[in-house]
Amino acid sequence: MHYVSTRGHSGRRQFCETLLEGLAEDGGLYVPETYPRVDAATLDAWRALSYPSLAFEVLSLYVSDIPPADLKAICEKTYTPEIFGTSNIVPLRKLETRLYLQELSNGPTLAFKDVAMQLLGNLLEYELARRHDELNILGATSGDTGSAAEYAMRGKKGVRVFMMSPLGRMSSFQQAQMFSLQDDNIHNIAIDGVFDDCQDIVKCVSSDLEFKRRYKIGAVNSINWARLVAQVVYYFSGYFQVSEGRSAGVDFSVPSGNFGNICAGHVARMMGLPISRLVLATNENDVLDEFFRSGIYRVRSRADTLETSSPSMDISKASNLERFVFDLLGRDARRTKSLFENQLRECGSFDLSGDPSFVTAAARFGFRSGRSTHADRLATIRDTWDRYHTMIDPHTADGVTVGRMHASPEAPMLVLETAQPIKFATTIKEALGRQPDRPLRFDGLEGLPRRVKVLPPDTQAVKNYIADIMQGATC
Ligand SMILES: *Cc1c(COP(=O)(O)O)cnc(C)c1O
Repeated sequence: MHYVSTRGHSGRRQFCETLLEGLAEDGGLYVPETYPRVDAATLDAWRALSYPSLAFEVLSLYVSDIPPADLKAICEKTYTPEIFGTSNIVPLRKLETRLYLQELSNGPTLAFKDVAMQLLGNLLEYELARRHDELNILGATSGDTGSAAEYAMRGKKGVRVFMMSPLGRMSSFQQAQMFSLQDDNIHNIAIDGVFDDCQDIVKCVSSDLEFKRRYKIGAVNSINWARLVAQVVYYFSGYFQVSEGRSAGVDFSVPSGNFGNICAGHVARMMGLPISRLVLATNENDVLDEFFRSGIYRVRSRADTLETSSPSMDISKASNLERFVFDLLGRDARRTKSLFENQLRECGSFDLSGDPSFVTAAARFGFRSGRSTHADRLATIRDTWDRYHTMIDPHTADGVTVGRMHASPEAPMLVLETAQPIKFATTIKEALGRQPDRPLRFDGLEGLPRRVKVLPPDTQAVKNYIADIMQGATC
């Protein structure tokens, strides 16, 4: 299997090359040359597999540059009950007839990003060792991504993490989760500013090619193909758990921000998994809902990006959408490039409303969408608690709210649970008048010693800090 850029760059890449490169040279995203099809007989054969074996089968279709025995070992080391709390890894919880939660947030940081990031950590360690190379991951986070990356990379050979977050702006649980890590290869940097300052610094550092090369700076952001393909696996697992031998279709409802999670559902559907509908849920930052309803993709400005109570979905543009648009346009790289490079730069938006490809999109690709508000989240958290004695976090609540709008009598709806309530205690308190339950292993987390460097919102200060650490490191 080879990978190509959505913007048509002529170079074809192997899986491990996309793993380290992230973005393609021409600014496009890597996609597989074709989606491998999984036929009914194969689906049947996969039904009984354990999660790590299923992950191995799915990944094998996309990875041709890691020997199968090594890939299998990586999957088995990643998806264990010790790391994910259950041997099922992504179990279903039935709320009512035809409505289920699929629990994706039982990993180390209690958000679904662990499912992909834990695999990425092991893949990176493997590949860097094979190349006798190292990588310094520089990232910016306002919450879930940073902690998932740190818990995936801690103690990994050849990898260091420099993670910036806005000083004092994450939830107290999220701060404690990150800053309590004592591993030598994990470096927390609290920037005295806002999240956008952190992101700007990442951009500035990454555009200094000399610094980037010298200090081997890389990223693990949501456009990385390896993260996406790791997420494809749980759509298969969810389908097997709910369909019990029947080959009827299922629906998924996905709380969405950067379009990574639901894009994995799109890939699973393109592979032939019987998904009837992919329901995309946004919060008040509804750039994606607007696109799927109208065909108009209108990137928001910073000023127009709201701070909501489902903060991991507070996005102004959706970095993975380009992969879907590429497929929507019949894999026309020239048009994709013109939309995402020229049109977005010049107008901040593009319009496919009259395009035949968009008019038939819902039918061809199964997408539906909807948005929900703070009041909806509170009502859904309350309702789910009252009726099913199940506590859900605000992001999952967006998924339940919008999933219900599109519920159908024909197919079961699986709502992807993207985080646990303990991460967002303030909103849970507001909805239920009580604190969320805390998993035992997090008792006393906020009281642990912290390791964090506070720096001003200044690129040079961050560069100096990285250089200092690297000087001290004995390689
Ligand atoms: C990252 C995240 C999302 C959004 O996922 P995307 O892949 O960016 O669409 C939703 N909920 C939670 C809790 C998250 O951490």
